Amino acid sequence: MIEILEGSELDSNTYIVKDEKILVIDPGIDSKKILKTIDPKHVDIIINTHAHIDHCLNTILFENAEVMLHREDVKEAEKGSFYGTWNFINKKVNIKVDKELKGNEIIETGKHRFRVIHTPGHTHGSICLFEEKEKILITGDLVFAGGFFGRTDLGGNPRELINSLKRILKIDFKDIYPGHGGIAGREDVEDALLNAKYLFETELE
Ligand SMILES: [Zn+2]
Repeated sequence: MIEILEGSELDSNTYIVKDEKILVIDPGIDSKKILKTIDPKHVDIIINTHAHIDHCLNTILFENAEVMLHREDVKEAEKGSFYGTWNFINKKVNIKVDKELKGNEIIETGKHRFRVIHTPGHTHGSICLFEEKEKILITGDLVFAGGFFGRTDLGGNPRELINSLKRILKIDFKDIYPGHGGIAGREDVEDALLNAKYLFETELE
């Protein structure tokens, strides 16, 4: 089971998997939400779907965990700028990345296996994580319920975003677990692709 801790306001959703290994995806900025649910000492792996502060800040709580981030976003996390989003909290923190992801890695926790899919667009190093048994796709800020998609002006690129939406539509997922808001489905991704094409049409011509 993938546990969902919903983010409030600016905060991201956090996803937790408690198998033989404990995995936390996008620990977010509200530490109370995390500490109520889990003891940071026991967490083995942190995966940040991308280097925006609303997804990454609480990574600093987990001193024993192996921290993973796509290699194209590592510099922004390690220097503490997070593509300018450090401004959201007005405090500079640096995050040390232990494992730079490239895409296609399999991360195993015991009962679950997550495939890393590089899906740039919201940031250059944004990833999705596909859990093959439950067919859940964790998408960070690539796509949201209602056909919305992540902004591209904080380290992203509209053309890459459109290609990434096309790419995830080829995956046999059942549910989308996004970085903000509730669970989404295939129709939401299809709508997001249409909306993104429409919005960026003139920009891309
Ligand atoms: Zn973001």
